[in-house]
Amino acid sequence: MLAESYLLPLFFCKKTRLQNTGKRVDQSSSAIWVIAESKSCGEICGTAYELIAKALKLSESSGTGTAAVCVGVPDANSLNKLKSSGVDCVYVSNTGSNFFEDERFAESIAVLSRKYKPSVILGPATARGRALMPRIAVKLKTGLTADCTGLEIQAESGKLLQTRPAFGGNLLATIICESFPQMATVRPHVFAPNAPQSTGKTAEFVEFDASESWPSKRIISETPFENKGENIADAQIVVCAGMGVGNSEGIKKVETLAKKLGGALAGSRPVVDNGLLEYSRQVGQTGTTVHPNIYIACGVSGSVQHLAGMQGSDFIIAINSDPDAHIMKIADIALCGDLNDIVPELITVF
Ligand SMILES: Cc1cc2nc3c(=O)[nH]c(=O)nc-3n(C[C@H](O)[C@H](O)[C@H](O)COP(=O)(O)OP(=O)(O)OC[C@H]3O[C@@H](n4cnc5c(N)ncnc54)[C@H](O)[C@@H]3O)c2cc1C
Repeated sequence: MLAESYLLPLFFCKKTRLQNTGKRVDQSSSAIWVIAESKSCGEICGTAYELIAKALKLSESSGTGTAAVCVGVPDANSLNKLKSSGVDCVYVSNTGSNFFEDERFAESIAVLSRKYKPSVILGPATARGRALMPRIAVKLKTGLTADCTGLEIQAESGKLLQTRPAFGGNLLATIICESFPQMATVRPHVFAPNAPQSTGKTAEFVEFDASESWPSKRIISETPFENKGENIADAQIVVCAGMGVGNSEGIKKVETLAKKLGGALAGSRPVVDNGLLEYSRQVGQTGTTVHPNIYIACGVSGSVQHLAGMQGSDFIIAINSDPDAHIMKIADIALCGDLNDIVPELITVF
């Protein structure tokens, strides 16, 4: 539903009209910004709070401020949550609809950035974030590091160290961007959001109007994609089938365990490549990043590309016949043996 009747609580807000100066952004300001993506209903997505948690940590190292930036029509609840998330400022550009209009969104954020000159802009590596962030980077004539798995502030220079898998995931590269703002995208679930806390701090709220710079092109309708499968990204328990399951019979065993535990069934890439599971269930660098409470890896070796998608899991259980498999070394519980014996036993236990 579009929140067209939604009224922003404007009583305490500043309204600023920003002009596109076309100048290159310099390093004269230092806040860390998070692009708070919203859904079509106006709800701010969970990725915003994950990035805010990281931005707050980075700001402790750098001593700089933090801000969340929303474009569209965020709903009132989300806006309140954002204001009490710990950031110093929430910027909102009301575009009059929640359709994702990448050019309009990018121009709004670029205009705002030229005005307030953040040192860092973080965005989600979601479909929308991947369309939006490069557009902003081009407009600001700066770089962008995509799909970061680690972000730190370098003590000597105060610059952002942006770590991401490189060369097919065989090594982790740490990148420094010499131009400003330093921009990075982060995959969902790489960082954990902060637990809700009542610090009593309320962010300053700034509504900004960049409409003079918007392109005239508008989106007039949207057809949501119907996803009938499970969403492994949001599951609290993920049971993953690796090539050790062998065939579709093996997949069924792992699926039964997942169902018994109320969890989601996932797979490694070769399992998907071999047509045993659909791509939406693939965990890893070229699949989905998951961050469940419990991750059970059945017959998964633990390649670096697989770990890129699940190493943020709170508790990892590995079932593997090879005690030297890499996954067994990083697991909290390593069950060494044939999964064809262990999985049915677990099914009877739970
Ligand atoms: C650019 C690039 C991107 C990639 N992206 C991804 C990605 O997103 N996700 C991903 O998963 N991979 C990805 N890969 C592939 C990755 O490198 C590995 O090949 C893959 O993760 C291995 O999958 P696996 O662990 O299921 O299979 P294998 O490596 O074949 O491991 C099977 C494991 O099962 C164990 N086993 C065998 N039989 C049994 C049994 N009966 N009981 C118990 N254990 C048993 C074996 O000891 C072994 O450890 C990518 C590779 C590249 C180059």
